[in-house]
Amino acid sequence: MKPNLLGLSRDKMKALFFELGEKPFRAQQVMQWIHQRGVLDLNDMTDISKVLRGKLEQLVEIKAPNVVADYPSEDGSHKWVIEVASGSRVEMVFIPEGSRGTLCVSSQAGCSLDCGFCATGKQGWNSNLTVAEIAGQVWLARAQIDGFNGAAQRRISNVVMMGMGEPLMNFEPVMDAVSLMMDDWAYGLSKRKVTISTSGVVPAIRRMKEYTDASLAVSLHAPNDELRSRIMPINKKYPIADLIDAVKEYMASLKDKRVPVIEYTVIKGVNDHRQHARELAELLRTLPCKINLIPFNPFSLSDYRRPSDSVIRNFRVILQRAGFTVTVRTTRADDIGAACGQLVGDVEDLTRRQERYARRAEAMQNEVPEYYGQSGIERAQILASTGKAATSADDTLVLGS
Ligand code: SAH
Ligand code: SF4
Repeated sequence: MKPNLLGLSRDKMKALFFELGEKPFRAQQVMQWIHQRGVLDLNDMTDISKVLRGKLEQLVEIKAPNVVADYPSEDGSHKWVIEVASGSRVEMVFIPEGSRGTLCVSSQAGCSLDCGFCATGKQGWNSNLTVAEIAGQVWLARAQIDGFNGAAQRRISNVVMMGMGEPLMNFEPVMDAVSLMMDDWAYGLSKRKVTISTSGVVPAIRRMKEYTDASLAVSLHAPNDELRSRIMPINKKYPIADLIDAVKEYMASLKDKRVPVIEYTVIKGVNDHRQHARELAELLRTLPCKINLIPFNPFSLSDYRRPSDSVIRNFRVILQRAGFTVTVRTTRADDIGAACGQLVGDVEDLTRRQERYARRAEAMQNEVPEYYGQSGIERAQILASTGKAATSADDTLVLGS
């Protein structure tokens, strides 16, 4: 397969031109044509000689991801569905805030990590996106929102790797894509405005400092290992203490003073108790950070609920009184299924998780017909009365909460 120039980082682009016996400034010219002027046709790159264009034509391609659907939200947000090489469809979302806005980018088709509260996790994993497919989302959004006319005031001011997938499970392509987002020859975003969000793949967090100085967000969602392991299976492998250590190490490697964002999806009856807030404040005492509370966004395969506004307010106040800066993420774009954790696209599951969920649902329906159509608590009671052990992260959670 020919390399796609849209996905070559500065170093790789320079290496390509070096191989061709060309000067490094050619790399700069081509990158600026692609990422800053939006040009994907070599013939339109008028300051590149015809001979070189001809050579490149043979060796490479320049291709943006294919948009197969787009959905505007009533609140001004916008979701695009793009088709990737594996045939899966993934989603990216633009969320405007005043004259600026945040682009939420996907890194995988599906996700293998199976957090109990996440729609992407429920669909299993199909494939990792390539650098061109990840950076290409920024290219597409520029094309759709800002245009490539060198507008002084661009609307895409922030990029967050918070779409579908776990960025650190697709490590190198994500690192290259992020480097393009921050490269002055490409999208030129500030390192403070490009954020990698992770559920806590500890060895990958430890490797990050060799590749990037982007900002970091950590999906914590629970103040102790017992609860976190129940809603986030990855915690069994990389418990909280190791995670916090790795985060501290990464933050210490940055040259400027920055703090990580700790994300905490607040789920009714699961992790929203005042005691959880106090425990969280204690846990984070030695980690300078900002806390972002995300009210749980419901989706059809989940029995979890969103807590009331007053519960979230109380949770926030406890953390604020303990000295933390706390924001509550406003729910955006849920009319188009584009709020945090709702992104699903169209993914053929290679981990067979969807199949397992369907099989389990069928078995339960045969054995315990009254189980279905009940609330989480009622389901737990039925399971308890039939002596059935919990069979999923969801069930365990309900039984234990
Ligand atoms: N895999 C990465 C990034 C994608 S998820 C991660 O887990 O950090 C982006 C954020 O949305 C994460 O903090 C995630 O935990 C949160 N999230 C997932 N499902 C959610 C839901 N249903 N409601 C609210 N937030 C959710
Ligand atoms: Fe994957 Fe993140 Fe969803 Fe967990 S929250 S399943 S890591 S996308």
